[in-house]
Amino acid sequence: MNYKVTLIPGDGIGPEVAEAAKRCIEATGVSIEWEEKLAGSDALKETGSLLPQETLDSVRRNKVALKGPIVTPIGEGFRSVNVAIRHELDLFACVRPAKTYPGVKSCYKDIDLVIVRENSEDLYAGIEFEQGKENTEILIKDIEKYSNKKIHSGSGLSIKPISEFATERIVRFAFEYAIKNNRKKVTVVTKANIMKFTDGLFLKTARNISKQYASKINFEEALVDNMAMQLVQKPHNFDILVLPNLYGDILSDLCAGLIGGLGIAPGANFGDTLAVFEAVHGSAPKYKGLNKVNPTAMILSGVLMLRHIKETAAADKLENAVRQVISEGKFVTYDLKADLKDASCVGTKEMADAIIKIVRGKQ
Ligand code: NAD
Repeated sequence: MNYKVTLIPGDGIGPEVAEAAKRCIEATGVSIEWEEKLAGSDALKETGSLLPQETLDSVRRNKVALKGPIVTPIGEGFRSVNVAIRHELDLFACVRPAKTYPGVKSCYKDIDLVIVRENSEDLYAGIEFEQGKENTEILIKDIEKYSNKKIHSGSGLSIKPISEFATERIVRFAFEYAIKNNRKKVTVVTKANIMKFTDGLFLKTARNISKQYASKINFEEALVDNMAMQLVQKPHNFDILVLPNLYGDILSDLCAGLIGGLGIAPGANFGDTLAVFEAVHGSAPKYKGLNKVNPTAMILSGVLMLRHIKETAAADKLENAVRQVISEGKFVTYDLKADLKDASCVGTKEMADAIIKIVRGKQ
């Protein structure tokens, strides 16, 4: 079958890791016609927009995209192009598997858990009121009136909306993902003891939905502060974590730390019909153009993409090749060496070359 996939290289290290992932995916023999589209700083230079309509239209048309990281501009129209893409395309579920591969530097072995992060609400929704603005002061007075609580004049405000609709959607997604992927347990993570009307609603909704899956999937609850500790002490106790947006963002990086770092942490964003695959890491601007960073996170995001389009054999082949290269530890980037200054490390392109060689069976 011939697939059409939107490729958004992004900026910073994005184009280097996106190219590496594209080459690795092509090496599996799956026939993909890539529709390359801009977003981020290059898009701004060429089209005057950080997120051109053409890019969004392409993802809507093709239904699948592979996306490199994009820097968050300071003082531009968007808080984050990445968040804007998720909002515009209603990619409500962010899935970030955290899995250890033999050979990575980590205190842990055999970790295999999945973060399912709500993508559309919470403090990440971008509803903010700037310090000192007239509307902010009006809002502060209103909140004081209705809540009977004092807010210092001159405060900035960020609003945390959590709805039953969006929570039901993400929790159901987590349980369905658990069933499809032969997982055993979903843990809902909140701070419901303190934020009763937002996280409390998330928890209450999750409890209700969990009843419909009780015969198939176990359900557990945890508070986010305690979860941070438990993940460090006993990560093997967890399977799928479902969380509101901000906790999902923070614990994703914690889980990347458990499995050896951001260089190997992949991800995907799903809506009802669309899917955009991207690494957990950002655009690491200081490494831009140096052919230095690890392409694995982006390549493994490509593996998730291959699984999504049901090219399971190709996905297995590519994941096995990544596993082999990491476990041999020879053709790997600096971050996978025991000593970060180890001169025997290879660049982004060369690590991808080593993976491609194995995929093509030339080893
Ligand atoms: P970052 O993830 O870009 O980089 C932090 C550090 O992690 C790097 O300095 C590097 O040491 C390490 N790292 C990241 N990717 C790596 C890789 N592939 N291989 C080896 N090491 C790697 O985080 P940041 O510096 O906080 O953010 C830079 C920019 O990226 C910001 O503008 C941020 O908003 C944006 N960002 C974008 C996304 C996205 O596109 N989805 C996600 C996170 C951050």
